[in-house]
Amino acid sequence: MIISIHTQATSEERAQLMTLLCRITGSQRPITTTMMTEREVIALDGTIIDAQAQTAINEQSAVDSIHTLKTPYQLASRLFQATSTSITIGTTHDCEPVTIGGTASPVIMSGPCAVESREQLISTARAVKEAGAQVLRGGAFKPRTSPYQFQGLGIEGLHMLSEAREVTGLPVISEVMEPDMVDTVAQHVDILQVGARNMQNYPLLMSVGRHARKLPVLLKRGLSSTIDEWLLAAEYIIAAGNPNVILCERGIRSYDPMTRNVLDLTCIPLLHELTHLPVIADPSHSTGRRELVPVMSRAAIAAEADGLIIETHIDPDRALCDGRQSITPAQLEKIVHETRLLTQLMKGDV
Ligand code: PEP
Ligand code: MN
Repeated sequence: MIISIHTQATSEERAQLMTLLCRITGSQRPITTTMMTEREVIALDGTIIDAQAQTAINEQSAVDSIHTLKTPYQLASRLFQATSTSITIGTTHDCEPVTIGGTASPVIMSGPCAVESREQLISTARAVKEAGAQVLRGGAFKPRTSPYQFQGLGIEGLHMLSEAREVTGLPVISEVMEPDMVDTVAQHVDILQVGARNMQNYPLLMSVGRHARKLPVLLKRGLSSTIDEWLLAAEYIIAAGNPNVILCERGIRSYDPMTRNVLDLTCIPLLHELTHLPVIADPSHSTGRRELVPVMSRAAIAAEADGLIIETHIDPDRALCDGRQSITPAQLEKIVHETRLLTQLMKGDV
């Protein structure tokens, strides 16, 4: 059940509502309120609210309305919020902020799959900035299929990402894999990435949702997740208090090993109907082949993606992780240029 709070509610009226909700739910914990684009809301576990309690909640002067949508997800739904969410990235560190979603032009995030060394990261960061990318990516904690593959530099890698932001002014995105590591990773990044393998790691989703500064979260689609499962994962983050969720289509598993995954382009316009959250595409992990990255980048922009996340390496053939799908800075520059042209075309400016 979703409770929308009156914009003019006083602190006494709110406190009264909270006391009632804690009594009804039997919760000792404070109830989470979330500031959405259009209103402030409280999401409650519906199984414990009977009709009498519902009436008591409705009678509270702080309450504007209460309702439950027919869709399994609520706060993530376009039916709940008609206005597209736009999220400004890079407001908590010293860098050049960039807005994603809504009417903003597509945002290009790029960098190596993994931070491998200070030299590799700083030179790639400079090159992707030069190529026109607006956000630097780089994995410090890597979820690898084999325990014998390079696992990332961990905290050392996070410090290098902070340095790369200082050098280039680009906001930074990196993956967090454990609920207890959210605060540590958040000290160094501007977007917390939840990877495909962790899309349904509910303690992690709640942990990024509860993050005090509500740092934007890039939520990648699970390896074989349905759109409903994906939006429910986003719902976990929003219901826990953080509405700044960006969805990322990174390809889904199929039977054919010819490509690493199948980029589900259909989900982009579909998600724009179902949800107000920004949606970006990852042409690198979806294809697994660098020669397919430029064309699938164009296709995703044509399908109205709010941005792209692309793996770029200064020396792709020597990358410690995902070199086969990594492009060079020169190839990235071309994609940035084509994205601008396509965007102008789609806005009717040419
Ligand atoms: C990544 O972005 O480096 C990554 C591991 O992606 P995914 O979670 O989509 O596999
Ligand atoms: Mn990768």
